[in-house]
Amino acid sequence: MLYFALPMPIAADAAHTDTPGHPVAAVQPGPDDVEPASHLAIYRTLTAIITIAPLIGLGLAGWQMWDGLLHRYDVLGFAIMYVLTGLGVTVGFHRLFTHRSFKTFPAVRFVLAVLGSAAIEGPIISWVADHRKHHTFSDRNGDPHSPHVDHGTGLRGVLRGLTHAHVGWLFIHTERGHRERYAPDLLADPVVAFVDSTFFVWAIGGLVASFGVGWAIGGSLTTGLTGLLWGGAVRMLVLHHVTYSINSLCHFFGRRSFQTGDHSRNLAWLAPLSLGEAWHNNHHAFPTSAFHGFGLRQLDISALVIRLMERLGLCWDVVRVSPERRAAKLFAG
Ligand SMILES: [Zn+2]
Ligand SMILES: [Zn+2]
Repeated sequence: MLYFALPMPIAADAAHTDTPGHPVAAVQPGPDDVEPASHLAIYRTLTAIITIAPLIGLGLAGWQMWDGLLHRYDVLGFAIMYVLTGLGVTVGFHRLFTHRSFKTFPAVRFVLAVLGSAAIEGPIISWVADHRKHHTFSDRNGDPHSPHVDHGTGLRGVLRGLTHAHVGWLFIHTERGHRERYAPDLLADPVVAFVDSTFFVWAIGGLVASFGVGWAIGGSLTTGLTGLLWGGAVRMLVLHHVTYSINSLCHFFGRRSFQTGDHSRNLAWLAPLSLGEAWHNNHHAFPTSAFHGFGLRQLDISALVIRLMERLGLCWDVVRVSPERRAAKLFAG
Protein backbone atom coordinates (compact mmCIF):
# COMPACT_ATOMS: atom_id res chain seq x y z
CA MET A 1 0.00 0.00 0.00
CA LEU A 2 1.31 3.44 -0.87
CA TYR A 3 1.03 5.87 1.98
CA PHE A 4 0.85 9.62 1.91
CA ALA A 5 1.28 11.01 5.39
CA LEU A 6 -0.52 14.03 6.66
CA PRO A 7 1.15 15.83 9.54
CA MET A 8 0.01 14.23 12.75
CA PRO A 9 1.52 13.65 16.14
CA ILE A 10 2.94 10.29 17.14
CA ALA A 11 2.02 8.91 20.56
CA ALA A 12 4.52 10.03 23.18
CA ASP A 13 5.11 6.48 24.36
CA ALA A 14 6.24 5.33 20.94
CA ALA A 15 9.89 6.01 21.81
CA HIS A 16 12.19 3.27 20.73
CA THR A 17 15.83 2.53 20.19
CA ASP A 18 17.65 -0.74 19.86
CA THR A 19 21.12 0.65 19.27
CA PRO A 20 23.40 -0.11 22.19
CA GLY A 21 24.72 2.99 23.87
CA HIS A 22 21.97 5.25 22.59
CA PRO A 23 20.08 7.08 25.29
CA VAL A 24 16.59 5.61 25.52
CA ALA A 25 14.07 8.35 24.85
CA ALA A 26 12.47 10.10 27.74
CA VAL A 27 8.89 11.15 27.14
CA GLN A 28 10.11 14.67 26.36
CA PRO A 29 13.63 15.87 25.48
CA GLY A 30 15.38 17.79 28.26
CA PRO A 31 17.94 20.61 28.09
CA ASP A 32 20.85 18.16 28.24
CA ASP A 33 19.67 16.57 24.99
CA VAL A 34 20.50 19.70 23.01
CA GLU A 35 24.01 20.72 21.98
CA PRO A 36 24.60 24.29 23.23
CA ALA A 37 24.89 26.65 20.26
CA SER A 38 27.83 29.02 19.84
CA HIS A 39 29.10 31.11 16.91
CA LEU A 40 25.62 30.85 15.39
CA ALA A 41 26.18 33.60 12.83
CA ILE A 42 29.30 31.86 11.50
CA TYR A 43 27.60 28.46 11.30
CA ARG A 44 24.56 29.90 9.56
CA THR A 45 26.75 31.76 7.06
CA LEU A 46 28.78 28.61 6.34
CA THR A 47 25.58 26.56 5.98
CA ALA A 48 24.22 29.17 3.57
CA ILE A 49 27.43 29.10 1.50
CA ILE A 50 27.50 25.29 1.42
CA THR A 51 23.82 25.24 0.40
CA ILE A 52 24.01 27.97 -2.24
CA ALA A 53 27.52 27.60 -3.75
CA PRO A 54 26.78 24.21 -5.36
CA LEU A 55 23.69 25.77 -6.99
CA ILE A 56 25.98 28.29 -8.69
CA GLY A 57 28.14 25.32 -9.68
CA LEU A 58 25.07 23.63 -11.14
CA GLY A 59 24.41 26.77 -13.20
CA LEU A 60 27.97 26.64 -14.57
CA ALA A 61 27.62 22.91 -15.19
CA GLY A 62 24.35 23.51 -17.06
CA TRP A 63 26.04 26.10 -19.25
CA GLN A 64 28.91 23.70 -19.90
CA MET A 65 26.51 20.95 -20.96
CA TRP A 66 24.53 23.38 -23.13
CA ASP A 67 27.70 24.50 -24.86
CA GLY A 68 28.75 20.92 -25.58
CA LEU A 69 31.80 21.23 -23.35
CA LEU A 70 30.86 18.37 -21.05
CA HIS A 71 33.32 15.50 -21.35
CA ARG A 72 33.30 11.90 -20.26
CA TYR A 73 35.98 12.59 -17.68
CA ASP A 74 33.74 15.13 -15.95
CA VAL A 75 31.02 12.51 -15.57
CA LEU A 76 33.62 9.97 -14.43
CA GLY A 77 35.05 12.45 -11.90
CA PHE A 78 31.54 13.10 -10.61
CA ALA A 79 30.84 9.35 -10.26
CA ILE A 80 34.13 8.60 -8.48
CA MET A 81 33.75 11.43 -5.97
CA TYR A 82 30.01 10.78 -5.49
CA VAL A 83 30.47 7.09 -4.70
CA LEU A 84 33.50 7.63 -2.44
CA THR A 85 32.05 10.47 -0.35
CA GLY A 86 28.56 8.90 -0.46
CA LEU A 87 29.86 5.61 0.97
CA GLY A 88 31.77 7.63 3.57
CA VAL A 89 28.38 8.90 4.76
CA THR A 90 26.29 5.74 4.37
CA VAL A 91 28.75 2.97 5.31
CA GLY A 92 30.88 5.19 7.57
CA PHE A 93 28.95 7.99 9.32
CA HIS A 94 25.63 6.17 9.34
CA ARG A 95 25.98 2.39 9.58
CA LEU A 96 29.38 2.16 11.32
CA PHE A 97 29.69 5.26 13.51
CA THR A 98 26.03 5.99 14.35
CA HIS A 99 24.63 2.46 14.58
CA ARG A 100 27.70 0.23 15.02
CA SER A 101 26.43 -2.22 12.41
CA PHE A 102 29.85 -3.83 12.06
CA LYS A 103 33.35 -3.73 13.49
CA THR A 104 36.52 -2.86 11.64
CA PHE A 105 40.17 -1.81 11.98
CA PRO A 106 41.13 1.72 13.13
CA ALA A 107 42.64 2.38 9.68
CA VAL A 108 39.32 1.57 7.98
CA ARG A 109 37.48 3.73 10.54
CA PHE A 110 39.85 6.58 9.68
CA VAL A 111 39.34 6.22 5.92
CA LEU A 112 35.53 6.05 6.24
CA ALA A 113 35.49 9.04 8.64
CA VAL A 114 37.62 11.08 6.22
CA LEU A 115 35.50 10.16 3.16
CA GLY A 116 32.30 11.05 5.02
CA SER A 117 33.78 14.38 6.16
CA ALA A 118 34.64 15.17 2.52
CA ALA A 119 30.88 15.08 1.78
CA ILE A 120 30.69 18.36 3.77
CA GLU A 121 27.61 17.41 5.81
CA GLY A 122 29.25 18.61 9.04
CA PRO A 123 31.86 17.19 11.44
CA ILE A 124 31.41 13.48 12.09
CA ILE A 125 30.52 13.61 15.81
CA SER A 126 27.89 16.33 15.31
CA TRP A 127 26.43 14.34 12.39
CA VAL A 128 26.20 11.22 14.54
CA ALA A 129 24.76 13.09 17.57
CA ASP A 130 22.02 14.66 15.42
CA HIS A 131 21.19 11.35 13.79
CA ARG A 132 21.06 9.39 17.05
CA LYS A 133 18.75 12.08 18.45
CA HIS A 134 16.59 11.65 15.33
CA HIS A 135 16.23 7.94 16.10
CA THR A 136 15.58 8.59 19.80
CA PHE A 137 12.71 11.06 19.15
CA SER A 138 11.66 10.07 15.61
CA ASP A 139 8.79 12.31 14.47
CA ARG A 140 8.16 13.57 18.00
CA ASN A 141 9.25 16.59 20.01
CA GLY A 142 13.05 16.59 20.06
CA ASP A 143 13.56 15.16 16.55
CA PRO A 144 15.97 17.63 14.85
CA HIS A 145 14.38 17.23 11.41
CA SER A 146 10.89 15.75 11.48
CA PRO A 147 8.49 16.95 8.74
CA HIS A 148 5.61 16.14 11.13
CA VAL A 149 6.20 18.11 14.33
CA ASP A 150 4.83 21.63 14.80
CA HIS A 151 4.49 22.67 11.16
CA GLY A 152 0.76 23.35 11.11
CA THR A 153 -1.98 21.63 9.15
CA GLY A 154 -3.17 21.41 5.54
CA LEU A 155 -1.03 21.91 2.45
CA ARG A 156 0.84 24.77 4.11
CA GLY A 157 1.79 22.49 7.01
CA VAL A 158 2.94 19.78 4.60
CA LEU A 159 5.17 22.17 2.65
CA ARG A 160 6.55 23.80 5.80
CA GLY A 161 7.27 20.37 7.29
CA LEU A 162 9.03 19.08 4.18
CA THR A 163 11.10 22.28 3.84
CA HIS A 164 12.14 22.11 7.49
CA ALA A 165 13.11 18.42 7.25
CA HIS A 166 14.99 18.97 3.97
CA VAL A 167 17.17 22.06 4.64
CA GLY A 168 15.43 24.33 7.15
CA TRP A 169 16.64 22.38 10.18
CA LEU A 170 20.27 22.96 9.16
CA PHE A 171 19.83 26.62 10.12
CA ILE A 172 18.27 25.84 13.50
CA HIS A 173 20.45 24.97 16.47
CA THR A 174 17.85 24.46 19.18
CA GLU A 175 17.27 20.75 18.55
CA ARG A 176 20.77 19.47 17.74
CA GLY A 177 21.98 16.31 19.47
CA HIS A 178 24.24 17.02 22.45
CA ARG A 179 27.60 15.56 21.49
CA GLU A 180 28.51 14.39 24.99
CA ARG A 181 25.10 12.82 25.57
CA TYR A 182 24.62 11.24 22.15
CA ALA A 183 28.15 10.37 21.07
CA PRO A 184 30.37 9.83 24.15
CA ASP A 185 31.83 6.71 22.48
CA LEU A 186 33.07 8.74 19.50
CA LEU A 187 34.40 11.61 21.62
CA ALA A 188 36.49 8.98 23.45
CA ASP A 189 37.71 7.43 20.18
CA PRO A 190 41.05 9.08 19.24
CA VAL A 191 40.69 8.31 15.51
CA VAL A 192 37.19 9.77 15.26
CA ALA A 193 37.90 12.73 17.57
CA PHE A 194 40.89 13.66 15.39
CA VAL A 195 38.91 13.55 12.14
CA ASP A 196 36.11 15.53 13.83
CA SER A 197 38.44 18.30 15.02
CA THR A 198 40.11 18.55 11.59
CA PHE A 199 36.83 18.55 9.63
CA PHE A 200 37.75 21.55 7.44
CA VAL A 201 40.93 19.81 6.23
CA TRP A 202 38.91 16.87 4.87
CA ALA A 203 36.12 19.08 3.52
CA ILE A 204 38.61 21.13 1.49
CA GLY A 205 40.66 18.00 0.79
CA GLY A 206 37.64 16.51 -1.00
CA LEU A 207 37.49 19.54 -3.29
CA VAL A 208 41.24 19.37 -3.94
CA ALA A 209 40.84 15.65 -4.72
CA SER A 210 38.05 16.50 -7.21
CA PHE A 211 40.47 18.84 -8.97
CA GLY A 212 43.14 16.11 -8.84
CA VAL A 213 40.83 13.48 -10.34
CA GLY A 214 39.90 15.84 -13.19
CA TRP A 215 43.57 16.66 -13.79
CA ALA A 216 44.61 12.98 -13.68
CA ILE A 217 41.89 11.79 -16.07
CA GLY A 218 41.87 14.72 -18.51
CA GLY A 219 45.52 15.77 -18.22
CA SER A 220 45.18 19.57 -18.16
CA LEU A 221 44.45 22.51 -15.88
CA THR A 222 41.08 23.01 -17.60
CA THR A 223 40.01 19.42 -16.92
CA GLY A 224 41.20 19.89 -13.34
CA LEU A 225 38.89 22.90 -13.01
CA THR A 226 35.92 21.16 -14.62
CA GLY A 227 36.74 18.21 -12.34
CA LEU A 228 36.43 20.59 -9.40
CA LEU A 229 33.07 21.70 -10.78
CA TRP A 230 31.65 18.21 -11.37
CA GLY A 231 33.46 16.11 -8.77
CA GLY A 232 33.27 18.95 -6.24
CA ALA A 233 30.31 21.33 -6.54
CA VAL A 234 27.81 19.22 -8.51
CA ARG A 235 28.67 16.08 -6.52
CA MET A 236 28.20 17.99 -3.26
CA LEU A 237 24.85 19.39 -4.39
CA VAL A 238 23.45 16.03 -5.52
CA LEU A 239 24.73 14.10 -2.49
CA HIS A 240 23.45 16.77 -0.08
CA HIS A 241 19.97 16.71 -1.54
CA VAL A 242 19.87 12.91 -1.63
CA THR A 243 20.85 12.84 2.06
CA TYR A 244 18.32 15.58 2.86
CA SER A 245 15.66 13.59 0.99
CA ILE A 246 16.12 10.70 3.44
CA ASN A 247 15.11 13.14 6.21
CA SER A 248 12.25 14.74 4.30
CA LEU A 249 10.81 12.45 1.58
CA CYS A 250 11.53 9.16 3.41
CA HIS A 251 9.43 10.33 6.35
CA PHE A 252 6.59 11.32 4.04
CA PHE A 253 6.27 9.34 0.80
CA GLY A 254 6.61 5.63 0.10
CA ARG A 255 5.69 2.32 1.62
CA ARG A 256 5.67 1.19 5.22
CA SER A 257 6.40 -2.50 5.61
CA PHE A 258 7.23 -2.51 9.31
CA GLN A 259 5.57 -1.15 12.41
CA THR A 260 7.71 1.64 13.81
CA GLY A 261 6.73 4.43 16.17
CA ASP A 262 7.30 7.06 13.46
CA HIS A 263 6.48 7.94 9.84
CA SER A 264 9.57 6.38 8.20
CA ARG A 265 9.00 4.97 4.71
CA ASN A 266 10.73 2.93 2.00
CA LEU A 267 11.14 5.02 -1.17
CA ALA A 268 12.24 2.55 -3.86
CA TRP A 269 13.16 5.04 -6.63
CA LEU A 270 15.61 6.81 -4.33
CA ALA A 271 17.39 3.58 -3.33
CA PRO A 272 20.05 3.45 -6.11
CA LEU A 273 21.13 7.12 -5.81
CA SER A 274 21.06 7.01 -1.98
CA LEU A 275 23.27 3.90 -2.04
CA GLY A 276 20.54 1.95 -0.20
CA GLU A 277 19.58 4.50 2.46
CA ALA A 278 16.07 5.02 1.08
CA TRP A 279 14.89 1.70 2.62
CA HIS A 280 14.27 3.97 5.57
CA ASN A 281 11.27 2.21 7.11
CA ASN A 282 13.34 -0.99 7.22
CA HIS A 283 16.11 1.03 8.85
CA HIS A 284 13.89 2.56 11.55
CA ALA A 285 12.48 -0.91 12.29
CA PHE A 286 16.00 -2.38 12.66
CA PRO A 287 18.46 0.53 13.18
CA THR A 288 21.51 -1.62 13.90
CA SER A 289 21.14 -3.81 10.81
CA ALA A 290 24.07 -3.37 8.41
CA PHE A 291 21.64 -4.07 5.57
CA HIS A 292 18.80 -1.63 4.89
CA GLY A 293 17.51 -3.37 1.78
CA PHE A 294 15.95 -6.71 2.60
CA GLY A 295 16.10 -9.33 -0.15
CA LEU A 296 17.33 -9.24 -3.73
CA ARG A 297 14.62 -6.85 -4.90
CA GLN A 298 15.73 -4.06 -2.57
CA LEU A 299 19.01 -2.76 -4.01
CA ASP A 300 21.33 -1.61 -1.24
CA ILE A 301 24.76 -0.69 -2.62
CA SER A 302 26.15 0.16 0.85
CA ALA A 303 25.18 -3.33 2.05
CA LEU A 304 26.98 -4.87 -0.94
CA VAL A 305 30.10 -2.88 -0.01
CA ILE A 306 29.89 -4.08 3.62
CA ARG A 307 29.48 -7.68 2.41
CA LEU A 308 32.54 -7.27 0.17
CA MET A 309 34.55 -5.79 3.05
CA GLU A 310 33.51 -8.75 5.21
CA ARG A 311 34.63 -11.21 2.51
CA LEU A 312 37.99 -9.45 2.28
CA GLY A 313 38.42 -9.60 6.06
CA LEU A 314 38.17 -5.81 6.38
CA CYS A 315 35.19 -5.95 8.76
CA TRP A 316 33.49 -8.44 11.07
CA ASP A 317 30.59 -8.85 13.51
CA VAL A 318 28.24 -7.57 10.79
CA VAL A 319 24.76 -7.16 12.32
CA ARG A 320 22.07 -9.13 10.47
CA VAL A 321 18.37 -9.35 11.23
CA SER A 322 16.87 -12.84 11.15
CA PRO A 323 13.76 -13.52 9.02
CA GLU A 324 11.89 -14.33 12.26
CA ARG A 325 12.63 -10.89 13.78
CA ARG A 326 11.57 -9.25 10.55
CA ALA A 327 8.34 -11.26 10.38
CA ALA A 328 7.46 -10.26 13.93
CA LYS A 329 7.48 -6.55 13.05
CA LEU A 330 5.70 -6.76 9.66
CA PHE A 331 2.38 -5.03 9.30
CA ALA A 332 -0.32 -7.65 9.62
CA GLY A 333 -2.06 -8.51 6.35
ZN1 LIG B 1 14.51 8.72 9.81
ZN1 LIG C 1 19.96 5.76 11.24
